[in-house]
Amino acid sequence: MGTPMELETERLFIKLLTLSQLKLWVNDISMLEIELNCECDKGPIDGFFLNIINNQIKSIENDPENYVYHSFWFIVRKADKRAVGSIDYKNIPNERKEVEIGYGLEKQFEHNGYMTEAVGAFCKMAFMDKKIETIIAETEVENTASSKVLERCGFKKYKEERTHWWRLNKNMNKYINVNRIEFVVTNKCSGKCKHCFAKLSSKKESINAEIAIKVINDLCKNYSINSIMTYGGEPLLYAGTVCQIHKTAYENNVKNRDLITNGYFSKDIVHMKICIQKC
Ligand code: SF4
Repeated sequence: MGTPMELETERLFIKLLTLSQLKLWVNDISMLEIELNCECDKGPIDGFFLNIINNQIKSIENDPENYVYHSFWFIVRKADKRAVGSIDYKNIPNERKEVEIGYGLEKQFEHNGYMTEAVGAFCKMAFMDKKIETIIAETEVENTASSKVLERCGFKKYKEERTHWWRLNKNMNKYINVNRIEFVVTNKCSGKCKHCFAKLSSKKESINAEIAIKVINDLCKNYSINSIMTYGGEPLLYAGTVCQIHKTAYENNVKNRDLITNGYFSKDIVHMKICIQKC
């Protein structure tokens, strides 16, 4: 199924601009208003945004088959046909089936929930596209309104740098939020504390490191995981597994990585040194 030229929500039309309409946005906004049957409060575009549109026009001319990912969509209020903002894909989906979106709302239309409505419908449409499994968005740190739009649409923040980065995965459950992972690496322990269930004699071995790594990668892809912990029993009886877990967490930018140990995980001095070096 191809991408529709127009989406409809309760209060909005979201209209995909053709290449010629994109050029009208730059050169003849009155004609664009007639073509889209809408009114633009803002006059001709200029400055930084004009550069962006001109670059997108060039992208479509160079890659017409993918124009859907290069063009803009006008967000038009049904009630009075006013153009309240725009939304777009920033580029074609990458090999990991990720695509970034951008959006903007005219100041006078803020605080009405229009952008949440538009982003929600846009993402729903995007996930009908077989090339897309993850939608990414960037917000300015101080732009709390934009962050709230993404939160309401189920996005999870996964990176905080100079700007904030958000992600919505096709398979993500918007009603669940996971931010910490804990692994009981093993029930075996070098201690013999009377009150405790864990004993060195326990027949149970450790968790499977490969499965643990997959779990971390999957959860970090879909949620904002900010802490991880390994414990037991005595987890460092399986130092290799512990190290792989923490390495994977580190590679996924999990900031807080904790380990609970009784400190008596081996009588083998070489093994102890390896554990300390790796962890
Ligand atoms: S897990 Fe802790 S409390 Fe339990 S036996 Fe080991 S050292 Fe003792």
